[in-house]
Amino acid sequence: MVERLDQTAVQGGRIAPKAPRLSPPYSCLSDRTCKKDKQKMKITKSDGEWKDKLTDEQYRVTRMKGTERAFTGLYHDCKDAGVYRCVCCGAPLFHSDAKFDSGTGWPSFQEAVEPDAVETTSDNSLFMHRTEVLCATCDAHLGHVFDDGPGPSQKRFCINSAALNLEREGDAASQQGSVRNVREEQP
Ligand SMILES: [Zn+2]
Repeated sequence: MVERLDQTAVQGGRIAPKAPRLSPPYSCLSDRTCKKDKQKMKITKSDGEWKDKLTDEQYRVTRMKGTERAFTGLYHDCKDAGVYRCVCCGAPLFHSDAKFDSGTGWPSFQEAVEPDAVETTSDNSLFMHRTEVLCATCDAHLGHVFDDGPGPSQKRFCINSAALNLEREGDAASQQGSVRNVREEQP
């Protein structure tokens, strides 16, 4: 018994250094070559784990496909520069440069930060035919996309604030700095 426990501990020690799987969503911002890895790597958690991580409203919107009431979210009127990340997994989804005032009461974007940052699927609920937008990394429900947007794409990504976490440009610099420091401390 004792020997087995020791063996497990050694194996655990060997596996641990290979495990920093949290980094791809962050490194993808600067490294476009890791797109394929990102597609393969879906982040999955149990309902209980998501509930622990998210507020009730964030959970209802992202994991139960809910919709926040118009004009009540954090970001519908926000004009700050930065990257809007998935509130569940931290993957970059939309840039403030693509945000526009749609007057709908929800944050609206012309395009995702990268085409494969989000996935779409047909949504026929509520007697409507709509196209649902999901986080490509963790399948969080984000909102819907419509074909009545401004600009060449004519897309209007209508996204719930509760699904987003804005990393303002100043924040991004300090956060990247801290991530780098942590990495440098590791052997
Ligand atoms: Zn996500």
